[in-house]
Amino acid sequence: AVSTAQDFDFFYFVQQWPGSYCDTKRSCCYPKTGKPAADFGIHGLWPNNNDGSYPSNCDPDSPYDQSKIRDLIPTMQAKWPTLACPSGDGSAFWKHEWEKHGTCSESILNQHSYFNTTLNLKKQVDLLGILRGAGIEPDGGFYSVDSITGAIRDATGFTPGIECNVDESSNSQLYQIYICVDTNAGDLIECPVYPRSKCSSRIEFPPF
Ligand code: 5GP
Ligand code: 5GP
Ligand code: 5GP
Repeated sequence: AVSTAQDFDFFYFVQQWPGSYCDTKRSCCYPKTGKPAADFGIHGLWPNNNDGSYPSNCDPDSPYDQSKIRDLIPTMQAKWPTLACPSGDGSAFWKHEWEKHGTCSESILNQHSYFNTTLNLKKQVDLLGILRGAGIEPDGGFYSVDSITGAIRDATGFTPGIECNVDESSNSQLYQIYICVDTNAGDLIECPVYPRSKCSSRIEFPPF
């Protein structure tokens, strides 16, 4: 039988704190367009299953085609900056995200709508504003994971997932925040499953 039903249960909308990406042994490289704003940046919109597994690289016949998203590039540069080395213009990061993750939700979002929808989610969820409103600032201080989770739950109505990495002194720090979104990428939802937390109970929020 022919089926066009999507083959996943929800999306993770993942944002990264650039201060924590850069504050590691591997360091980072600013994009060719210059140092990004001191704000959370988009990592990706990832189809996921309720059991924690996820599909990837679903359609080799749908390569990244930047000509389809020309109108979005200035906003992508600002909101979805690349910090990997060597410095790039972002296209390698966006190509990776489309081909690994975006091709797995193609029955719902074509390439333009995949990127445009992700940019709109970023507008909808101002993580830095939410945290600042709760007195949680990127000042190099340590905050409890529960206070971070609670601030975002109070502001959005849904509990986020928190991922940490470690700095050169082995301090656990706030690296990525996962927000769950329904399969139409329209509404935030309670997460069916969370990424395994590698965080200490109190984590650093480094400046950028
Ligand atoms: P890491 O091994 O750094 O946690 O993840 C590497 C990459 O695997 C991520 O950037 C993402 O592309 C993918 N990935 C890791 N965890 C998950 C997950 O829980 N769901 C999905 N959909 N992708 C993930
Ligand atoms: P994922 O972890 O989504 O599979 O992989 C992210 C890929 O994009 C990695 O190959 C990484 O080198 C590349 N990349 C480019 N810029 C960035 C960035 O700013 N953050 C992250 N996490 N990965 C980036
Ligand atoms: P991707 O390969 O698959 O290159 O990245 C693998 C892992 O290394 C991802 O977690 C990505 O975020 C990280 N990574 C890749 N390049 C860099 C970099 O230049 N700086 C830092 N800090 N992490 C990187």
